[in-house]
Amino acid sequence: MKTAVVLFTRDLRLHDHPALAAATTNAEHVVPLFVLDPALLGRSANRDRFLHQALADLRDGLKERGANLVVRRGDTVAETIAVARQVEADGIALSHDVTRFATRRQDRLRAEAERHRMSLRLFPGVTVLAPGEVRPGGGGTNYRVFSPYFRAWEAARWRDEVAAPRNVALPAGAEKLGIALPEPPEGESPHAAAGGETEGRRRLRNWLHRIDAYDDQHDAMADDDTSRLSAYLRFGCLSPLAVAEAARRKGGPGAAAFVRQLCWRDFYYQVTAGFQDIARVPMRPAGDRNWRYDDAHALEAWQTGHTGIPIVDAGMRQLRAEGWMHNRARLITAALLTKHLRLDWRAGQDWFFRWLIDGDVPNNSGNWQWVAGTGNDTRPHRRFNPIRQAQRYDPEGDYVRRYVPELAGIPGADVHMPWRLDDFKGLDYPPPLESHGDEAVWLR
Ligand code: FAD
Repeated sequence: MKTAVVLFTRDLRLHDHPALAAATTNAEHVVPLFVLDPALLGRSANRDRFLHQALADLRDGLKERGANLVVRRGDTVAETIAVARQVEADGIALSHDVTRFATRRQDRLRAEAERHRMSLRLFPGVTVLAPGEVRPGGGGTNYRVFSPYFRAWEAARWRDEVAAPRNVALPAGAEKLGIALPEPPEGESPHAAAGGETEGRRRLRNWLHRIDAYDDQHDAMADDDTSRLSAYLRFGCLSPLAVAEAARRKGGPGAAAFVRQLCWRDFYYQVTAGFQDIARVPMRPAGDRNWRYDDAHALEAWQTGHTGIPIVDAGMRQLRAEGWMHNRARLITAALLTKHLRLDWRAGQDWFFRWLIDGDVPNNSGNWQWVAGTGNDTRPHRRFNPIRQAQRYDPEGDYVRRYVPELAGIPGADVHMPWRLDDFKGLDYPPPLESHGDEAVWLR
């Protein structure tokens, strides 16, 4: 092949990038392309910022290899075809993705490529195991329950990792095809992580030194002993396969528990491949209870971290401060919204989607449906009691005090039920939502 276009989407890295590796091996010239598509930008200032940082890092990595990143703005399909025609490409390569948006984009790209007599090849790389690579017995397209999926996933043969290319040869004149990459826009969260493969790989190296404690510690909210790699996986700054293989090589119970979490990520991708309405339509309609739509006050209190339930408020404020929230806090806050306040899970999902740097449809919607009881939970009626969760996973109250300064003066676990303190009325902090005598009805 003479010239190939590699369309980057949510795989912003050079290491273990099967589409890029194949193009650099099989074609004389390669055009690495990213399209700033208005259909995808502007949904989250935090993610837009991270994306631009990741693109700058990718561009620098390509420059070190003798090439550059061609950046265009517009509809991804139209721009990709335009670039491919300008360089007289024989083919286009990209990583396979499964959301509704990505599937339509791939279908349109295939049709346009065919029309212009170019090949279109989809490669793995967004998940450890491609969706559909393992299938349940009985002929279903995807697993609906995690445990059997995990067993099949663990036992499956994973593809081999591929090295980053040493050189990428641009065709003559290709650099003139793009616009200058804009500076990263402002995000909304002051303490958000910075994007990019370089930063992701640095974090992964550090994480592998701390991974042993993950098994025991991953729920300890104040200790922050999880990897915080989710945003780097979300944008493909890290290859999920390479992360899982690195953890497997490290071995031990901490690494095993971590690899199991990575499998949850794959699980929701294959669920989404089989159910593309996941962001709007309940997977288990019977669980879609009678949501209340009349309580704008409760929704706003939840969004801004003023529910009067300290562990919930701490989580919601961490989300806004960092563009990330501890998994246990995501579970507690989502359960409060759906199971206690009975507000529609889609409202919570949309709020998370605005702030989370790691926010993506399969994981955000999949987890929201799981918590709301409309998804893949085998115990859809479970209810988390937020106070008991707080006492268990933030036993000293340090997580709450870190994010809720109004309560910083309350020592120990008393911080979880401030309304029981004699001087509660002197605090600038609300009583629990829907309370009688200062205690939420549903907490009794
Ligand atoms: P670690 O504990 O270090 O886990 C390692 C990796 O495993 C994570 O980076 C992530 O890729 C994956 N993982 C861990 N738990 C889950 C899970 N429950 N589901 C899917 N993948 C998982 N994760 C997202 O990546 N994007 C989202 O939009 C998202 N929304 C969520 C919404 C709700 C209501 C809930 C309960 C969970 C959500 N999660 C989401 C899953 C999980 O909370 C985050 O992946 C995790 O907190 C990220 O932090 P970490 O990288 O330190 O995770």
